[in-house]
Amino acid sequence: MAIYSHSKISAFETCPHQYKLRYIDKKKPEIPTTIEAFMGDIVHQALEDLYKRKKFRQRVSKASLIKFYRDLWKKNYSYDILIVKKGLSAENYRKMGEKFLSDYYDRMKPFEEMTILGLETQDKLTLKDGNQWHVRIDKLGCDNEGNYYVCDYKTNSRIKDQEEADEDRQLAMYSIWVKDKFKDVKSVKLVWHMLAFNKDIVSERTDEQLEKLQEDVLQKIKEIESATEFPTNVTALCDYCGFKVECPSFKHQAELEKIETVKQFKEDEGVKLVDKYSEIKTKLSELKKAEEEFRDNLIRYAKQFKVDVVYGSNQKCSVKEFEKIVLPEDKEEKEKFIRLLKDKGLWDEFSMINFMKLNSKVIKEEVDEDISEKLEKVKDFRLSLSRRRDVGDE
Ligand code: SF4
Repeated sequence: MAIYSHSKISAFETCPHQYKLRYIDKKKPEIPTTIEAFMGDIVHQALEDLYKRKKFRQRVSKASLIKFYRDLWKKNYSYDILIVKKGLSAENYRKMGEKFLSDYYDRMKPFEEMTILGLETQDKLTLKDGNQWHVRIDKLGCDNEGNYYVCDYKTNSRIKDQEEADEDRQLAMYSIWVKDKFKDVKSVKLVWHMLAFNKDIVSERTDEQLEKLQEDVLQKIKEIESATEFPTNVTALCDYCGFKVECPSFKHQAELEKIETVKQFKEDEGVKLVDKYSEIKTKLSELKKAEEEFRDNLIRYAKQFKVDVVYGSNQKCSVKEFEKIVLPEDKEEKEKFIRLLKDKGLWDEFSMINFMKLNSKVIKEEVDEDISEKLEKVKDFRLSLSRRRDVGDE
């Protein structure tokens, strides 16, 4: 049995390859962390310290909160922390975090919004399949009426809207744990402190919703545990991935970045292959366009001079007119036509297998086993050219 968490499952959903490197191969990322994650972590630690001091009836001034944050930042900051956004420095992020804390302090003072039951909890919820779910709640509290609060500090620069909050998996799973652990629970409120907006977003789940959520999680765990392939999924999030250097989708790029001269770059075997392949593809598409243009010109010529063979130096071209049918394009008309063929018992003779659709359904295991068993699966390659984002965008 294994321990799962929201971030572990999200890693698989975002990029199965990243999941494999991190959780199966247990590799250490090349980049220790991103500045966003670093700032978020320091803010979390500062707020944890604030509530801890409150617990011991210590006076917590805003200045002491900010000082704690600044000292922690200074102690832990390292120059290999990744800053992706152009034009921003670590200092910008440090100040942002400071502003988040200052606003939170002013809004929540005297920090008696609830009885604090736990800070940065470290517990496990046993799932129905025996696996465990890691429960790490930033701030867990309750009031005298049996209302429990599962609070999460968010330092994102994008606000979570209500719909998103109502579908969020992370806090909702913690809600199951709270209901399991505390028997006087009347309600569990899921609270996101959106620190960049100095605003809270609150959501709540019914028992039925939590039941369904746990089923979905179990399903996802099954999918992860039965996965045999872990493909890369290139998205804008790759810029924040600590495994980029060893990722098959970026490894070659990282190697090229080490090359110092244009000559060496041009001599790289991969560069040469892609450049040639792209040149051929461009030529082919130009040729295809030219072929269509010459085809039209030849038809026009044959019609104008009333000939059906046009002679060249070494070859001749026959231009013969013939009749062909055009299938109805309108959806309804097309369906009527298919029905007619079926009624007349001609469908089997004229219909064709939609290979693309069949292929996709078989690969995704969306057809019955007795169908897929009849088909052999082989490996093939799909090559697609696209513009390099990192070249000429500066
Ligand atoms: S760089 Fe992108 S594609 Fe590669 S492992 Fe990381 S998230 Fe996945």
